[in-house]
Amino acid sequence: MDAPPRAADEVVGLCRDLIRFDTSNFGPSGSKGEREAAEYVAARLDEVGIASTLLESEARRTSLVAEWAPVGCDTSLPPLMIHGHTDVVPAMASDWQLDPFAGEVIDDYVWGRGAVDMKDFDAIVLAVVRERQRTGRPPRRPIRLVFTADEEAGGPRGSGWLAEHHPDLLADCSEAIGEVGGFSLTVNEQRLYLIQTAEKGLAWLNLIADGTAGHGSMRNDDNAITHLAEAVSRVGSYRWPPRIRPAQQQFLDAIETALGVRISTDDAEQTLARLGSIARMVGATMSHTANPTMLGGGYKVNVIPGQATAGIDGRFIPGHEQEFYDTITELIGEKVRYEVVTGDVAVETTFDGDLAAAMTASLQAADPGSLAVPFMMSAGTDAKAWSKLGIRCFGFAPLRLPPELDFVALFHGVDERVPVESLQFGCRVLDDFLDRA
Ligand SMILES: [Zn+2]
Repeated sequence: MDAPPRAADEVVGLCRDLIRFDTSNFGPSGSKGEREAAEYVAARLDEVGIASTLLESEARRTSLVAEWAPVGCDTSLPPLMIHGHTDVVPAMASDWQLDPFAGEVIDDYVWGRGAVDMKDFDAIVLAVVRERQRTGRPPRRPIRLVFTADEEAGGPRGSGWLAEHHPDLLADCSEAIGEVGGFSLTVNEQRLYLIQTAEKGLAWLNLIADGTAGHGSMRNDDNAITHLAEAVSRVGSYRWPPRIRPAQQQFLDAIETALGVRISTDDAEQTLARLGSIARMVGATMSHTANPTMLGGGYKVNVIPGQATAGIDGRFIPGHEQEFYDTITELIGEKVRYEVVTGDVAVETTFDGDLAAAMTASLQAADPGSLAVPFMMSAGTDAKAWSKLGIRCFGFAPLRLPPELDFVALFHGVDERVPVESLQFGCRVLDDFLDRA
């Protein structure tokens, strides 16, 4: 009989299989494939004797929770959650060089929607758990495996629903690892591994200007369109002052050392621009942001409407939520009010303690001389839901990447792909980490 496949051999097949489930999430208008993907994951776990529970917030919006606590792991320790989402953002096939849902391997890359966000890590987790289970190597502590639906729409039918309706399945976990982090960034030959320890909060706002409706030919000093336009202009052109949290300070320090330059917080974005597209992810975490994104009002050119509205995509720094809203109130003035259409918490932990030490040690064991550095994400993940249960969340989905690969651009990008070698590296690091975590 052939020896069972090792994680490094199996991970590519698992990743390709997962990509072939089209799990496109179209937001409020629905999704597809999440149940099939969850059943696939459950079957792969079942093959090595791990039972899963499938949970649906709505028909076919399927998430999975499984307990992996084999004989030999220390059940006196609280479980560690390892989580990944199975949905993806849609892909416009005509823009791609290859079918986004074929899961092809070309030039040592696995191609397809989800290859980096985040069927890569889903596959790494499955591969490592399966290998250890088959070869009788328990993790140091119990592992709670969680695969979610609906992350790409903010998780109301996935992580958010699970945390609200099934906290009993999750809340005993003390820490969690998942996206987005653990990938390498090479700066002047120094390989940094970016561990996500924080993410900004979400404030999608609707601005509402009320005025006096009337004929477009008359004088009108209480024009809702004018009030709104002034408010939108002030919000959009406001330069938010830097608010540097410990994670970004550590990140900036590491970049300073690697680049051999001083970074002043006032022009951090400019200095970071030298790092390429990672600057887009990290630069936006130096301050709050509030971008006007939608405008609405009026129905005929000679009628002044009584109301006008605008959409604002606001993202606030952890610990400064009140300041963000106070500033918005000030900027929009007395004639305009706002309502929060969608709001969610900021997430923040510190990069210290045993688990951070375990991440650093596992990365250094696989890539000697590398450095693990915390950073803050400008976008949101399932970590928001887990953090509400008091779980410390880290973005740690390890990948060693070729220095020239514009990794950040591949998230939700065209021709999304991941190097086979990076998947195999991820397996080695996660495997080692399970002995230390
Ligand atoms: Zn993701």
